[in-house]
Amino acid sequence: MSILVVGSVAFDTVETPFGRAERVLGGSASFFSVAASFFAPVRLVAVVGSDFGDAQLKAFRGRDIDLTGLERADGPSFHWEGRYSYDLNSRDTIRTDLNVFESFAPKIPASYRDSEHVFLGNIHPKLQREVLDQVDRPRLVACDTMNFWISGAPEELRATLARVDILLINDGEARELSGEWNLVKAARAIRAMGPRALVVKKGEHGVLMFSEDGSFAAPAFPLEDVFDPTGAGDTFAGGFMGFLASRRSADDATLRRAVVMGSTLASFCVEAFSLDRLLRLTRTEIDERYGLFKRLTHFEPL
Ligand code: AMP
Repeated sequence: MSILVVGSVAFDTVETPFGRAERVLGGSASFFSVAASFFAPVRLVAVVGSDFGDAQLKAFRGRDIDLTGLERADGPSFHWEGRYSYDLNSRDTIRTDLNVFESFAPKIPASYRDSEHVFLGNIHPKLQREVLDQVDRPRLVACDTMNFWISGAPEELRATLARVDILLINDGEARELSGEWNLVKAARAIRAMGPRALVVKKGEHGVLMFSEDGSFAAPAFPLEDVFDPTGAGDTFAGGFMGFLASRRSADDATLRRAVVMGSTLASFCVEAFSLDRLLRLTRTEIDERYGLFKRLTHFEPL
């Protein structure tokens, strides 16, 4: 079953304690699409500028990623620059040049309208709703957002959340959105806004999911070499949604496996700059690491 994703396709300039990458491929929809395409066909909706060429598009080619909805506009592509602290837990945004992304109004190609799974990447909540208005009857809608929209467009965001099944955000965003410091209380408040499940990403501390059946926790995979965390959240979302799209049901047991699959994909993303590791990844490596997750978290009952 196909997944429609809307989000950014960008050039990123990233500095970590281990090196610097200049104008490499980035953007939420890029990380999401490549991760999700291991499990299900992906339909991409985004905008790039005239500086975005074949070299960048190569990342998507040869995978099950439909580029009909990738719009080309005159002008430079979206460019984001960030710098990470020594422990990689915090980052400063040095600059965000929206460029062609500033006037992005997602147009959904007719061939995408029957998409059963939709992932609304982090764009203005009004645009997220406009995407939903252009698809027929999705079975599952998941959504990302950020502090900028939580504080800057709260009403619009509420209207979008009312139409979303699963919200994926980080712990700081969950606290800000709900006005609750405690994440259990935050989850209850957010689920009352619409989403039946909330997935809270906590970086190197893993993920917490809250759903009808209670809560579920998955650690981040313990890695010896973490190189660049950029895109880990979007890669998580790609693995999570890709797995769900490959299954008939989205019951609690399936959601739990999707969380572990998301964590598995994200653990590869951080091993190199940009999408470098994801582009070299194989299905066998994914399945092996998913198995290691099982061992990592397994213990016998008393
Ligand atoms: P993450 O590390 O999961 O937060 O994702 C980082 C990616 O998001 C980078 O590749 C950026 O190009 C992209 N990004 C950064 N800021 C924005 C923004 N305001 N809107 C859309 N995408 C963004």
